[in-house]
Amino acid sequence: MAVRKRCRSSGCKASPRCAHPWWLDVRYKGVRHRMRADDFAFARGATAPVASKEEAAKVWEPKFIAEIVSGKDPRLAPERKEVPKPLTTVAQLLKLYRTRYVDVEPLKSRAGMVSQLNVLNAHLGNLPATALERPDAIEDFKARYANRAIATTNRYLARLRHVCNWAIGRDLLSRTAFHPRGIRIPAKSEHRRERRVCEAEEQRLLDACTLLNEPARPTAKLSWDDVREIRARADAGVPQNKLAVAFRISPAVCN
Ligand SMILES: [Zn+2]
Repeated sequence: MAVRKRCRSSGCKASPRCAHPWWLDVRYKGVRHRMRADDFAFARGATAPVASKEEAAKVWEPKFIAEIVSGKDPRLAPERKEVPKPLTTVAQLLKLYRTRYVDVEPLKSRAGMVSQLNVLNAHLGNLPATALERPDAIEDFKARYANRAIATTNRYLARLRHVCNWAIGRDLLSRTAFHPRGIRIPAKSEHRRERRVCEAEEQRLLDACTLLNEPARPTAKLSWDDVREIRARADAGVPQNKLAVAFRISPAVCN
């Protein structure tokens, strides 16, 4: 059971990080079944080439195996009663992005992405997908979110920008509204934040400063006051062995 590339044997040095196609390659009951993941996927409704090993392994290989195990020949396209619908709405694009990117790539923040997609879907889902090629709809969304923290709005916009670039890479959109003369994500103003500490915070800050003068651990032997005293005596010419005795410091530390 495997997803692999076949180009290494023909001398492709960049494999597997090359543009050569992924292959599904499965042995079942002594028979080896092999075909290009793209050929298998397109015959089953895919609208774009299989872009990553994760997608091939998580989306297409299980279907490939299921067909073999059920006695079908995966090289024959299944009869389809309906032609796959072309991508028409933003909602469809977001759904495709979710099933073919968010759900299959090894991502750290999947839950956050899913909630971002839900918000984007609620605001933009009904629009035609091509609305994302122009700034207007996205600027409306930005305006509706103007009362939120800039950082929050920026996260949605950054997600949408990634969706658009992902879609362009799969020929689902022809251009993006996110470019220097189109939609910009104002990252600069995110950090500009002014706030005064309240009284309770001020007190905690002062307490923390006091703590800095205490020994670091209950078992620590010296406070900063001790250190200052030792330094003063050392400056006054008291030899180290005398200091060691006076402050009960191991002589080894003083040598
Ligand atoms: Zn290759």
